[in-house]
Amino acid sequence: MNRPVDTAPELAPGLDLDLSWRNRFAELGDAFFTRLQPTPLPAPHWVGTSPAVADLLGLDRAWLASPAALDAFTGNLPIAGTQPLASVYSGHQFGHWAGQLGDGRAILLGEVDTPAGPQEVQLKGAGLTPYSRMGDGRAVLRSSIREFLCSEAMHALGIPTSRALCVTGSPAPVRREEIETAAVVTRVAPSFIRFGHFEHFSHNGLHGELRHLASFVIDRFYPACRAAPGNPYAALLEAVSARTAEMVAQWQAVGFCHGVMNTDNMSILGLTIDYGPFQFLDAFNPGHICNHSDSGGRYAYNRQPNIAYWNLFALGQALLPLMDDQQQALDALEPYKALMPAALQRHMNAKLGLERVEEGDAELTDTLMKLMAADAVDFTIFWRRLSEAADGAVDPVRDLFLQREAFDAWALRWRERLCAQPGFVAGATRDRMLRTNPRVVLRNHLGELAIQRAKAGDFSELARLQLALEHPFDDLPGQDDLAAFPPDWASQIEISCSS
Ligand code: AMP
Ligand code: MG
Repeated sequence: MNRPVDTAPELAPGLDLDLSWRNRFAELGDAFFTRLQPTPLPAPHWVGTSPAVADLLGLDRAWLASPAALDAFTGNLPIAGTQPLASVYSGHQFGHWAGQLGDGRAILLGEVDTPAGPQEVQLKGAGLTPYSRMGDGRAVLRSSIREFLCSEAMHALGIPTSRALCVTGSPAPVRREEIETAAVVTRVAPSFIRFGHFEHFSHNGLHGELRHLASFVIDRFYPACRAAPGNPYAALLEAVSARTAEMVAQWQAVGFCHGVMNTDNMSILGLTIDYGPFQFLDAFNPGHICNHSDSGGRYAYNRQPNIAYWNLFALGQALLPLMDDQQQALDALEPYKALMPAALQRHMNAKLGLERVEEGDAELTDTLMKLMAADAVDFTIFWRRLSEAADGAVDPVRDLFLQREAFDAWALRWRERLCAQPGFVAGATRDRMLRTNPRVVLRNHLGELAIQRAKAGDFSELARLQLALEHPFDDLPGQDDLAAFPPDWASQIEISCSS
């Protein structure tokens, strides 16, 4: 295996993509990363590409289909203007301090200037780095397809997330529970900085670097924190908490379980990152655990809002050396406790077709959630049918429940609340709900079917699913199966960390 060396390699001229590369993370200094080149993979082939992300980066869609692009995004061909590096971070995993982690299989190429602001481009699965620990630096086809599809699905749902430009595959064997094959996902985000980056420098007593990193993040992403009264780093903590609250509220509202909410998987920008054993709920179960390795259920669906707070607390602790006292951090964290439920109620109200939040809405939502849990009602299908019912009969929704009378009582209250809205128009409300409650989400079994076909060399199912996920609210023809109830075997799928 080619171990990368810990010194800056010669910069090859590389392939010119005609992009404007900047590499501001690389300017942070040697304490933050190790420069290295990706380790090539043999005989690469395309698995999937996202034309929308190509557009975002200003990459020519036709060029993206070329052999040069295939090599470049597999890590086999250097790209001119990039300064590849792996960053170092630490973190808390499953509630315990895990020490140094870092980009063990992701390599940051640099950032591309786009009309939407600079976007960092990473190759995930591009080989060993000094932070690979016991890992092999690789990602397997299965998990790379899941990350690719889910990134684009979340974006289409309006949920803050990293994006994915493409996945390439290689016949190179990768050992997991069985032998699988390698793949590389090209991920894109304004920044991949994690809570764990701050924890790393704080824990190691490198307070100069900690301040440098925090200032970097404030200057680039949270400039208002400089002007805020009081300590700018406390203001940063509060701003990150607000973004995290919004992200997690959206996860809850769409029934998304992240699965590995370790502090090293928490984005400082409040983006969903590091897709691993994630799952969209099928039957509603508030205590659902999607990560097969999470035996204690630390990251169960209904614990995500509290875990996010726990992680923000860890970030606050990491930032303490930059604050005057502990109270500043506690004060900065306090608003999360109200923001999170308020954001969630706002999203639940939108799902219910209710434009404003009023007293009693929390109870209305709560009653519904209890009924759905008791009858294990399919989360996505319920909301879709309820949307249709805003302008029609409630029977198809009622059919989802066993406790029909209890549902009828709830539906009556919902209908009254709905119709009492000033200027209520049933058809417009229905349309709005259909733009809020997706028809197609990346259910585990849908990903699994696309993966099985891709493993056999057929990427058409992946492309079909990708298209549906890019338009999750639309009734696309020929895609009824993607919006249907999951098959029985769906509940048997087991997915765990780091594959
Ligand atoms: P995760 O929770 O999957 O985001 O990964 C936790 C840590 O393990 C991160 O530092 C990853 O870079 C690292 N890691 C996971 N899988 C591998 C792998 N196959 N090779 C090297 N490092 C890995
Ligand atoms: Mg991670």
